Amino acid sequence: WETLKGSDSKVYEILQKELKRQEYGLELIASENYASKSVMEAAGSIFTNKYAEGYPKRRYYGGCEYIDEVETLARNRAKELFNAKFANVQPHSGSQANMGAYLALMKPGDTLMGMSLSHGGHLTHGAPVNFSGMLFNVVSYGVDEETETINYDEVERIAKNAKPKVIVAGGSAYSRIIDFKRFREIADEVGAYLVVDMAHFAGLVAAGIHPNPVEYAHVVTSTTHKTLRGPRGGIILTNDSDIYKSINKIIFPGIQGGPLEHIIAAKAVAFKEAMSENFKEYQKQVVRNAKALSNELSNQNLRIVSGGTDTHLILVDLSELNITGKALENALGQCDITVNKNTVPKEKLSPFVTSGIRIGTPAVTTRGMKEEEMKEIASMIAKVANNVLDEEGNIDKDLAQEIKKDVISLCQRFPMYADL
Ligand code: PLP
Repeated sequence: WETLKGSDSKVYEILQKELKRQEYGLELIASENYASKSVMEAAGSIFTNKYAEGYPKRRYYGGCEYIDEVETLARNRAKELFNAKFANVQPHSGSQANMGAYLALMKPGDTLMGMSLSHGGHLTHGAPVNFSGMLFNVVSYGVDEETETINYDEVERIAKNAKPKVIVAGGSAYSRIIDFKRFREIADEVGAYLVVDMAHFAGLVAAGIHPNPVEYAHVVTSTTHKTLRGPRGGIILTNDSDIYKSINKIIFPGIQGGPLEHIIAAKAVAFKEAMSENFKEYQKQVVRNAKALSNELSNQNLRIVSGGTDTHLILVDLSELNITGKALENALGQCDITVNKNTVPKEKLSPFVTSGIRIGTPAVTTRGMKEEEMKEIASMIAKVANNVLDEEGNIDKDLAQEIKKDVISLCQRFPMYADL
């Protein structure tokens, strides 16, 4: 049995470079995290070898007795964690979880109402370039111009006009707690199903520090790799047995073949981790860190969309600084600080350029960083933002070196995978 190092030095070397990047860089992408070694062990296990089309006890392949055990465990843990009656743990990704939810509830050509991409929604909430925009008649809602938060009266008005079959709530760049109860009332009023996509804040829900959408939505979808800190993948939850049956049919055989049982095993591990006291503490710190980072950035004259955050993420509007999201993403990248450019409400630039950046605290909090370190990070970001030289985001090489050094020393104080 040869190790990767011996059998494929090329892939091994690339992996070592990525390990270094993750260990010695500041990871501030709101949708990323560091999975535990147990999660990675399960994800890299021999479960990858097994075909298991179907569901526990109803498979199209022999030899599934242990696969059934692990998938049943994952399902039961997901149900317990989120207080849901039913769970499908097979979606390969968040996008497939959403596709599964939509196709279980409506047909191509029906109306889907979601938050627009430029106001913080996800591609799968109806963007024209995505399957959701191609298959469904899309109606979008956004955030209020003044408050930069969802205006529920406006959502109600749009829903009454459009009569959608499905309303989806949740987003990728919305930092405020969403009123799921109000969304459900609106859905009921117009005869729509409510889908909540909790991909971003699922970890906060699991820890009990964020309202649980399972109480209100017909269907809840999620990724498992963001705040939830599991392997890359998706899940679908519901309390309705008929909807659950439709979801199961759509996921397999509708849109997927053999489930990724190694990833399902890793999801089970992550769900158990998410039930621990440690995880609760971790999520509380994620939010405390996001608030601290938001305040510090604001003190340094960076404008925070909606004036702050209730969750793990912050959206920074750079329009007043006259730099683009693309430029600042590049500039920070030269200092080994990773963020992503993001559109902001009332965006005037293309999604490849944008006027904002999105910052999240899940990964740095997993490393053990707290409010003090958020101050350091805010200073670094502000320093870079104030020293962008051109449209491409170039900064002075000496400045980049100086900040890189600070980043490395901060990362060395909070090692992550140093023993790998
Ligand atoms: N839903 C939301 C709200 C997301 O932010 C994302 C990913 O960023 C997804 C769904 C899609 O997840 P995936 O990338 O696993 O397809």
